[in-house]
Amino acid sequence: MKSFIISFYSGKKTFMKVLFCSPEVTPFAKTGGLADVSAALPSELRNLGIDCLTAMPLYREISDMQLDLHPVEEISFLTANGIEQARIYSFGHILFVENKDYFSRGGMYSYAQQDYPDNLERFAFFSRACVELLFLIGDIDILHCNDWQTALSLAYLKSSSMPQIASVFTIHNLAYQGIFDASQWPSLFLEDSYFSPDYMEFYGRINIMKAGITLADMVNTVSPTYAKEIQTPQFGFGLDGLLRSISHKLTGIINGIDHAVWDPATDPHIAEKYNLHDMSGKTACKIDLQNRFLLEKEISVPLFGIISRLVEQKGIDLILDIIPEMVSMGCQLIILGSGNSRYEEQLRQMAKQYQGSLGITIGFDESLAHAIQAGADFFLMPSRFEPCGLNQMISMHYGTIPIVTPVGGLLDTVIALDEGPYPCGMRIRSSDSKNLLETIRQAFILYTAKDPLIVEMKKNAMKKLFHWSGPAALYNDLYRKLKAF
Ligand code: ADP
Repeated sequence: MKSFIISFYSGKKTFMKVLFCSPEVTPFAKTGGLADVSAALPSELRNLGIDCLTAMPLYREISDMQLDLHPVEEISFLTANGIEQARIYSFGHILFVENKDYFSRGGMYSYAQQDYPDNLERFAFFSRACVELLFLIGDIDILHCNDWQTALSLAYLKSSSMPQIASVFTIHNLAYQGIFDASQWPSLFLEDSYFSPDYMEFYGRINIMKAGITLADMVNTVSPTYAKEIQTPQFGFGLDGLLRSISHKLTGIINGIDHAVWDPATDPHIAEKYNLHDMSGKTACKIDLQNRFLLEKEISVPLFGIISRLVEQKGIDLILDIIPEMVSMGCQLIILGSGNSRYEEQLRQMAKQYQGSLGITIGFDESLAHAIQAGADFFLMPSRFEPCGLNQMISMHYGTIPIVTPVGGLLDTVIALDEGPYPCGMRIRSSDSKNLLETIRQAFILYTAKDPLIVEMKKNAMKKLFHWSGPAALYNDLYRKLKAF
């Protein structure tokens, strides 16, 4: 069976073998940008000649897809619950880890807005299985873990008989650290020495992300600005001191977008395709969007779009504050998202109140996300913090002007009006509703006055490409540095 896995590698002698571990990968399971990254980055790394396999849990939604999965191996290992088993299946370059008790459930991390109480055990199991995969495959140079759900792999690796394998830990969002009550420590089946402030203890509780930060050989996050921000108390979520102390091994690498999936010239989900040289299709996409959401069919009215997790990070409360003013100004707004039930309910109420100007879809809808990116004139991201953000890059490529706060990846990717040559977006001075409304008013005035700046920004934006080749080359450098040690 081992040879079966090895055959997934190219067969020829390559200079690097990587096991990339992630809790979500597009198109199998996705709650946010991590899933997009976990699909596109390994694929781009393979283009660079790196043999990269990806490990992820086999959730019920993936089993329901009826994919032609190939059984590879059954592995068993000792955990706090005794001997536990996982079946490994392969599909292309993905290795799915199956354990029905842990992963065959209604949601990935939660159900009906409630986190599963055994999330620590579930992802400890997955992390442990990833280390078993290293043994099974053999010859791996780099273990690359992503976010807290895989960070325990680094502790299990250090306690294993192969602790010398080099490791990278990527922080996709420091707000989600995987913090659990100390009473759950025995379920990790790790030496007690790891439950100390130097490793995973955090004010008397267990902090799983700390395992990734302290034990990985290199740590990175998903934009250079966010890498700096998380070392400050404002953005550090209590870990800024620790992150400053490891700054010698901390870098920021911006994400890319998958232009095979996100391209208005080829996008099968949009009403009419368009490109930089002929943007007439974008008008058809706007009308289509107005039709779908029963908004007034009026081209001269600026249409703002939002696609987002409905959480405080994304400034959804700021949007809720200013919807009445936006509507009375004459703007149209379409929001696609899910998350906090309070925000969901408020949005539903407002959609009734402002029919014709405000369109809401609560839920996750990949196809609609494409239609909104294509049909909107402006894309709103008033985030309080934004590790990288994919939507602003996608919106630029669709000629939809992003309106963004000066944080994280939004600073690194959007050149806003008055910030330099070739502006392709607009900047909200800070994440509060007054500044948000002010920037929206400026956008409204420019748009309704048919100011040439609008066309200029759209064109500048569409010219921007965010191919994964650039970021993948930087990951390649990181891996090479580690391998050289
Ligand atoms: P985050 O990872 O913080 O949620 P990103 O901007 O990095 O934010 O990535 C979000 C990704 O998830 C984008 O591809 C975006 O289009 C997608 N997305 C978010 N919410 C939805 C939704 N409700 N329906 C469809 N796609 C969504």
